[in-house]
Amino acid sequence: MIKINENFLELQDSYLFATIAKKVAEFTKENPDKKVIKLGIGDVTRPIPEAILEAMHKATDEFKKTETFRGYGPEQGYDFLREKIKENDYKTRGVEIDIDEIFVSDGAKCDCGNIVDIFSQDNKVAITDPVYPVYLDTNVMSGRSGKYNKESDKYENIVYIPATSKNNFVPELPKEKVDMIYLCYPNNPTGTTLTKEQLKVWVDYAKENKAIILFDAAYEAFISDEDVPHSIYEIEGAKEVAIEFRSFSKTAGFTGIRCAFVVIPKQLKGYSESGEEISLNKLWNRRHCTKFNGVSYVTQRAAEAIYTEEGKKQVKENIDYYKENAKIIKKGLEEAGYTVYGGVNSPYVWLKLPDGVKSWDFFDKLLTKANVVGTPGVGFGPSGEGYFRLTGFGTKENTIEAIERIKK
Ligand code: PLP
Repeated sequence: MIKINENFLELQDSYLFATIAKKVAEFTKENPDKKVIKLGIGDVTRPIPEAILEAMHKATDEFKKTETFRGYGPEQGYDFLREKIKENDYKTRGVEIDIDEIFVSDGAKCDCGNIVDIFSQDNKVAITDPVYPVYLDTNVMSGRSGKYNKESDKYENIVYIPATSKNNFVPELPKEKVDMIYLCYPNNPTGTTLTKEQLKVWVDYAKENKAIILFDAAYEAFISDEDVPHSIYEIEGAKEVAIEFRSFSKTAGFTGIRCAFVVIPKQLKGYSESGEEISLNKLWNRRHCTKFNGVSYVTQRAAEAIYTEEGKKQVKENIDYYKENAKIIKKGLEEAGYTVYGGVNSPYVWLKLPDGVKSWDFFDKLLTKANVVGTPGVGFGPSGEGYFRLTGFGTKENTIEAIERIKK
């Protein structure tokens, strides 16, 4: 008799986006004349920059001839891309990363999810709350969460660290000892960031407690403030305690093309049962090469083109476009009297609802009265209740119109 992995039974169905889609479909059916504007999306919408498309076409043509044909590539990624990452994403910020510390993949979601393979079941996991749900669900699947409690909307073995307006979105160190800490900055869903000093507190904690920080920097390209670190390795000592996830999805519109990378410094160590220090870079290399066969050559050439002068310029234009939208949302809502967070170093705007207003009720009101769709904060965790996420990923025209309607 085939037995299943029982951990999967502990997963809670994510109703968030399915429920949103259902509600919007019902509304549209009943009100076919109303134009619904979607500002809930977390996906990019702008066309891929020309420099990237050119590189893809050129790489595709190489497959026409035997001399330039490519079969399996290195599982960790081609050196031409890893060299560009090393130089542009790290060296320019004063961070020395070797190319064998960079692992190219097909997405930060997969990397964040797969990384749990190399850690013991016994580790205590901490997540900030609200949170990108992948960190939680992948730990549920791998048996680290314990039982789900419906009343608290929490798992018994997971440490939830609230990041709300009460602490100005700066999560406090946990009271109990934790081993795996997920941090995402700029944050999805709140759009907030940490300064170098604030991030250093976590690096120091991880050092003292022999813990690891799993740092998701998928929205790094949206940072414009000087004191906001682009990489956790800008913090002294972070190479000994942190793994960093990066993605080209939001940076360069690669949500459909698929390319990302994870950085695992060689000095980063985990411990065996007997207390022996083990290189996490080696463990991940083994895992990656066993279960993954590399990102396509064409895709990696596309990613490489992001780092050309033309590529950088064109990518920045798209990022600026989304940021301008986020600014319009933030400014408009503030003028309408709302308290709003994020939207400066991030495409996400996190709206604080008036006291006592539930995020699903606000969703319904916004949909029926203003015909605008956003994402209820509670969908990202219990501390997201009373908040609402809007994004700058729509068109500028729609964004302006949506905010005008909300103001009214
Ligand atoms: N990390 C965060 C915080 C995200 O919000 C997302 C996507 O929305 C991802 C990772 C996924 O990135 P990728 O498209 O590279 O899988």
